[in-house]
Amino acid sequence: MKVVAGNWKMNLTLPEAVELVKSIQPVSSVKVIVFPPALFAVPVTRHACRGIETGVQNIHHEDFGAYTGEVSAPMAVSIGMKYALVGHSERRHIFGETDEQVNLKVKKALEHGLKVIMCVGETLQERESGRAFEVVERQVREGLKGIDDLSSVMIAYEPVWAIGTGKNATPQQAQEMHEFIKKIVDVPVLYGGSVKPSNARELLSQKDVDGVLVGGASLKADSFNEIIRIASELS
Ligand code: PEP
Repeated sequence: MKVVAGNWKMNLTLPEAVELVKSIQPVSSVKVIVFPPALFAVPVTRHACRGIETGVQNIHHEDFGAYTGEVSAPMAVSIGMKYALVGHSERRHIFGETDEQVNLKVKKALEHGLKVIMCVGETLQERESGRAFEVVERQVREGLKGIDDLSSVMIAYEPVWAIGTGKNATPQQAQEMHEFIKKIVDVPVLYGGSVKPSNARELLSQKDVDGVLVGGASLKADSFNEIIRIASELS
């Protein structure tokens, strides 16, 4: 079953978020997940019935405590969320999240029964200097260190140079990296980076592309629904 996940990042107002989740048209052959801003998690999760699951965009690695501004795995579970996005490149590069912190967050999410989408991906400089595979291998190994049961883990390969830039990796580049990741760990691998209706079919047709993590195009029901429809034809 293909996966179509939408990362709304720090976008939308409450009425827009509720309207968007109500407009999503899931299909039974595709796993549809949305990651709303934490502030809108309760109403979006409440409206996300009919085959849509929700997740938190980031969690802290402790359960509770004096961590102003943070949210935790037990909080997400308590409102009915099923997923945690961990190690998104914006967390790594804007907020300085390390592989070690990513690993703690993955463990914490799994401990509380959340499924995890762990993001990995190289920068443009790393790709141009021939280090893309080395960087991704390190992120995968360090992020999943000490975790034996990977049945609730998916990886999203998101080359940093393709996120929000309109430049997506070619389907061949995606396939090559997904195949490489699957040789390290046997988990579903999603592709993310400027996925839109016009390139979703070719990306999702690749043998080792198990789904997509969509940013910008998940903010409009029309484009997100079109990607779900395309995924259903390939599931
Ligand atoms: C993302 O945020 O994970 C992402 C892939 O964004 P975009 O689709 O906008 O490039």
